[in-house]
Amino acid sequence: MPMKTTQRKQPLKQLSMKSNLVFTELLRNAGLKTTGARISICETLSQERFPISISALAKKVSAPNQSTLYRTLKNLVSKELVREIIADKKEARYEIAFGRKHHHHITCTNCGTIDDIHVCPPLLDTKHCSKKFTKVTGHTLEFFGICKTCA
Ligand SMILES: [Zn+2]
Ligand SMILES: [Zn+2]
Repeated sequence: MPMKTTQRKQPLKQLSMKSNLVFTELLRNAGLKTTGARISICETLSQERFPISISALAKKVSAPNQSTLYRTLKNLVSKELVREIIADKKEARYEIAFGRKHHHHITCTNCGTIDDIHVCPPLLDTKHCSKKFTKVTGHTLEFFGICKTCA
């Protein structure tokens, strides 16, 4: 599946040192111990322009094995440091949540290319759509379409 690639603007070493500190702090604030796998996942995802699948992530991070990677990811998702995007029936994708503005994604139904969408529909007035809720605290929303390459 072709994915857009982005070039790193900073040298890797410099970014590593800086982001290591940032992510150590983030993990600590989230009540998580700093582990190599957690740092590695946060660091790798923060360098990705678009959400990536677990199999793509596995090739880039230093995690001892697939189950550790999966468990660590779920952990980071539960602490809202990483966002899980389920736009593809085959595989979920992940992106760093920290430092990124609230946004949505559009996925090409033909090739799986993803782009960010920085528009957000207004929040619903819950009073009119649910008798059980008084407040909306968040939402997920996925868009689908055909990219220019596939059109
Ligand atoms: Zn496409
Ligand atoms: Zn939104």
